[in-house]
Amino acid sequence: MGVVLVGAGPGDKGLLTIRGAECIQKADVVLFDRFVSDEVLALIPDSAERIDVGKSAGTHPVPQEEINSILLEKAKEGLNVVRLKGGDPFVFGRGGEELELLAENGIPFEVVPGVTSAIAGAAYAGIPVTHRDYASLMHIVTGHARENNVPDIDYEALVRAGGTIVFMMSVSVIGGICKGCLGAGMDRDVPAAIVESATTNAQRKFLGTVGTLPELASENSVKSPAVIIIGEVCRLSDRYDWFGERPYLGKRVVVARAKPGVSKLSEKLREIGFIVETGPDVRIEPLEPPGSMLDEISDYSWLVFTSGVGVSVFFEYLKEAGFDIRDLRHLKIACVGSETEKEVAKRGINTSYCPSEYNGAALARGLAERVESGERSLLARAKDGAEDLTRILTEAGLDFDDVSVYETIREPWKIDIGDLDCAAFTSSRSVESFAEAAGDSDLSKIKAVCIGERTAATARSYGMEVFVSAEAAIESMVDKVKEVFDDSQD
Ligand code: SAH
Repeated sequence: MGVVLVGAGPGDKGLLTIRGAECIQKADVVLFDRFVSDEVLALIPDSAERIDVGKSAGTHPVPQEEINSILLEKAKEGLNVVRLKGGDPFVFGRGGEELELLAENGIPFEVVPGVTSAIAGAAYAGIPVTHRDYASLMHIVTGHARENNVPDIDYEALVRAGGTIVFMMSVSVIGGICKGCLGAGMDRDVPAAIVESATTNAQRKFLGTVGTLPELASENSVKSPAVIIIGEVCRLSDRYDWFGERPYLGKRVVVARAKPGVSKLSEKLREIGFIVETGPDVRIEPLEPPGSMLDEISDYSWLVFTSGVGVSVFFEYLKEAGFDIRDLRHLKIACVGSETEKEVAKRGINTSYCPSEYNGAALARGLAERVESGERSLLARAKDGAEDLTRILTEAGLDFDDVSVYETIREPWKIDIGDLDCAAFTSSRSVESFAEAAGDSDLSKIKAVCIGERTAATARSYGMEVFVSAEAAIESMVDKVKEVFDDSQD
């Protein structure tokens, strides 16, 4: 208990420390500001309260004294409090100020250092901050001014000392900074770089010299957060640009979600450099099934699942009602696809039937062939589940009960189509969510990568240009998205 000041790293969630991730997972309340990436925020457990104290541009951030007192108040309530800060909490992070009130009040605290953007930003731009041939010294300087907008920097001392200079919080004063260095005698041709949104898939790097950097930044509308790196080490940047060379870096793609939880497709696309926007937020609300569902379980011959969530919710009811898997031993299990089948397998149960094409219609046709006369089936699935499943079963004359064990709630979602050209869909429902989020925008320019023909038909109905993945699998979807981008490069 107490307060943990955690460095969230510069953006890439892989750069969060193991200790940092542990503390986030145990938190009851997390205070964070705008330099903490969404990827890291996604690690905060649902049960924890989230307090955004750094509302980005436009709205005012919470004043420092108030942050200090929230930390104190929450800690006094006996909660595990995590204060998440971008990069390292003590590198221009006001971490020191936040500990003061806690120390005064005898609140226990811990500090988890983070990977600072000053160093990671350089590393992800292929710049080693020190190098035996170029720099044996580095300075980390803030361009933020306490008063009158002119940072108080001793350029003479910096330039005399030599080495690499990293400026943070300096985008708006880049002209003054470069002028300051030149005024103190630095050569105009000293290489310099600016790295925006470093370590994220939105990273952009511009390489020039101390003489050209301000113009380069303004021509390209470089925005905060960015680090400015000045020094001979920047010469290595192009040769060592391991991150910037990733082919899909900065390419924007939308992955519309139909299910809660982490989207594997989004994760895989992010790993190879795409900027992935996802939505809507999806929540599961378990529904109380009729008491008869379990009371009559011995009358059923087939138990049919159409989603992993359905499986989890069903087994939860089973447990709550005092049943266990032995009460299901007489049942044959049917699943719509491999994900659902995996969820069933986790409970030590084999699936009797799973269609080769993962959709409700294929499942229904397969069942129609397998269910024998006199056998009754139980469908434990979502409210508003696909209608073709029940329609085909009815047409085939099967005896079944369609029980809604949960409801999927979609939060409102808005999306700015802007220059977007690709969106990926793993279900018809996700296409509909996307179209709704896009409002009145023209969807005819959207290249829709779809998991199967049904999804494709829905995307076509909105006028999108459709590409269907070779297989109904995430890897195959990723390949298709890559192909769409590769082709548009030609
Ligand atoms: N404690 C943080 C710095 C906070 S000050 C750290 O150690 O990184 C905020 C400044 O950090 C920004 O103005 C910018 O200069 C830098 N910064 C933070 N995240 C960044 C990122 N992803 N890319 C580039 N610069 C970043």
